[in-house]
Amino acid sequence: MLTGGLQKLTTLDFPGVVSSIVFTKGCNFRCPYCHNPELVALGFYLKNPKHQSTSDADLMPHATGQPTQAATVQEAATTVPANASQLLEHSSAAQTSHGQAATSAPSPYCGNLEPRAEMEELFRFLHKRQGLIDGLVISGGEPCLQPDLPEFCREVRKLGYKIKLDTNGSRPQMLQTLLDSSLLDYVAMDLKTLPAAYFKYGFCREADIESRLLQTMDILRDCGLPYEYRTTCVAPFIDREIILELAQLIGASGRTGMAGAAKTDTPWYFQKARLNNVLSPETPMEALSDETVAELVAEAAKLAPKAALRGE
Ligand code: SF4
Repeated sequence: MLTGGLQKLTTLDFPGVVSSIVFTKGCNFRCPYCHNPELVALGFYLKNPKHQSTSDADLMPHATGQPTQAATVQEAATTVPANASQLLEHSSAAQTSHGQAATSAPSPYCGNLEPRAEMEELFRFLHKRQGLIDGLVISGGEPCLQPDLPEFCREVRKLGYKIKLDTNGSRPQMLQTLLDSSLLDYVAMDLKTLPAAYFKYGFCREADIESRLLQTMDILRDCGLPYEYRTTCVAPFIDREIILELAQLIGASGRTGMAGAAKTDTPWYFQKARLNNVLSPETPMEALSDETVAELVAEAAKLAPKAALRGE
């Protein structure tokens, strides 16, 4: 596992479970508003020969698909920002999620140790916290790109922790593997825009990303575990029409697309965006206003009654 930081305590991220959050390093997405560029880029690891055995092609940006305007996003991602060290320290009170920044409290390690040492440090921490926290949130970056994620989860399970996975939804096979091995208790998947538009907007340059996302949604519908969707409200990726289509898609759970959409009781959390210190500030985009976000939540709730603004 390549890890880039640890938040010691959260009471908000994993519903009903007092938890810590471990952030994995490396992501196959380039969301322009991502607040964790240091978790997306692999500069440190690619320079570290000890790490090459676990550096999967999946961890490389845009390993497949055609390079288009997203190349500029990719270039931005290779530069570790001045605030990287701040981003690796996380608050015990603030909610964090995939690519969303939090403020700080010292973390036991800062993602700059050799990977084996980081794991030892992490498990020392988890041993010490047994009985004090009940769960571990695995966030990123994209955790499902880590080939040894199942093994890691097994070790965490041995210590008695519940596990929540935060995912961008692009690796349904890994998700299925984790579910088949009963290694998860809760899953949160991002919905950044319509699955058909991820490639166009440069979120992901994998040619089959739409089908992967729909497959993940189907897996979640059938998995029997609690799960949620999360949407960050940034134009032009999100607007009223897109939310209505996503609501129908969630109701139909991906497989049947727009036709036959039904109401769903799946939680769907909307997050307001802050566009300071983001991965690709040159991308034309705009954080939706509080008023617009409230309207979108109301629209979404017509098909997804558990649509809500995060934190309210
Ligand atoms: S999927 Fe998450 S970690 Fe990856 S670029 Fe997007 S916001 Fe950042």
